[in-house]
Amino acid sequence: MTQTFHEPSPSALMLLGERRDPLSERGVDCPGDLPAASDPDLVERARAAKEALGDRVFILGHHYQRDEVIQFADVTGDSFKLARDAAARPEAEFIVFCGVHFMAESADILTGDDQAVVLPDMAAGCSMADMANINQVDDAWAQLEEAGVASRTVPVTYMNSTAAIKAFCGAHGGVVCTSSNAEVALRWAFDQVGGVDGDGKVLFLPDQHLGRNTAVLQLGMELDDCIVWDPRKPLGGNTPEAVEAARMILWKGHCSVHGRFRRAHVDRFRAEVPGINVLVHPECAHEVVTAADFVGSTEYIIKTLDAAEPGSSWVIGTELNLVRRLANAHPDKEIHFLEDTVCFCSTMNRIDLPHLVWALESLAAGEVPNRIVVDAETQRLAKVALDQMLALPALNPAKD
Ligand code: SF4
Repeated sequence: MTQTFHEPSPSALMLLGERRDPLSERGVDCPGDLPAASDPDLVERARAAKEALGDRVFILGHHYQRDEVIQFADVTGDSFKLARDAAARPEAEFIVFCGVHFMAESADILTGDDQAVVLPDMAAGCSMADMANINQVDDAWAQLEEAGVASRTVPVTYMNSTAAIKAFCGAHGGVVCTSSNAEVALRWAFDQVGGVDGDGKVLFLPDQHLGRNTAVLQLGMELDDCIVWDPRKPLGGNTPEAVEAARMILWKGHCSVHGRFRRAHVDRFRAEVPGINVLVHPECAHEVVTAADFVGSTEYIIKTLDAAEPGSSWVIGTELNLVRRLANAHPDKEIHFLEDTVCFCSTMNRIDLPHLVWALESLAAGEVPNRIVVDAETQRLAKVALDQMLALPALNPAKD
């Protein structure tokens, strides 16, 4: 079979990882030999390095990655699927994670100690995960203890969080969830403290939108049952009475990509394209999700479009790389992007072809660059919360 390779996109010409902007390139270390984005041989170099490594390397590509990178992925998927795919390849010495930092941490937790997880650009973080650091969460928990509610509160963290936050949940009887299983995770969490109709609480980290959308639309709670916890304010910016009355304590975090979509975008498409189907990710704001026809994870979005009728019209509220690929894969359907400006995930886009080539060539030369290592105690506790997620009963298989 002949394979067509994608050349670097024009935006790959941004100079990344070359220490030209120390503030935005924190942690970046590509010592001297990061290939130029203009190198016409990048595609061939990546192919040759991957071939030289053979089964020793396994490349994971998140759905939001650039075309120029995803073409070299052995598997594609969302963050949890990729971490599980990595765990299923114990023979691979190197796992190259084309995604963002928290995903590579999860892969390190779920893979063997003899496997090295490599993130081609250490500056590929996640703005949402960065909105909850462990010191802030420890501090919030201490305040909940002082307010007398911590013993009735279960912490639940979205997969999109640091290993330290997952470990916090493991240490405090909590669980990790994904956008596919948030409902069942929340039901399990409430069951630990008297059930959905009791007086227990969930501290949901770090995405307020996924927490609110799941609690209101799937568990039947009221918006008033949810409060937002701002880590910069005493008691998260709430009164003691509001904390006592709340069922869902939502960390003040959001995705900078999905947070851009507005109700007005939905209204505009409905006015302009009669009969259009609106399909959005649950990281979108409540006003967007309640205006949509379908809501689900990236895997759900992909499956929904696969099953859609030819000739049907869709507008999608998720990251632009994925929407563009879906539009290319379904020329028989009309597929729009739910925004009027470009809306890539800027941190996902840090992984470009020069960084992938640099990582693969380094590995082929016997060096392990940008290895992601989670310390043993954090791994142990984070795995408690991840294993608890894996033990949850299946629910909503349509939205896997
Ligand atoms: S799309 Fe949002 S949640 Fe995903 S990596 Fe980018 S900022 Fe983080």
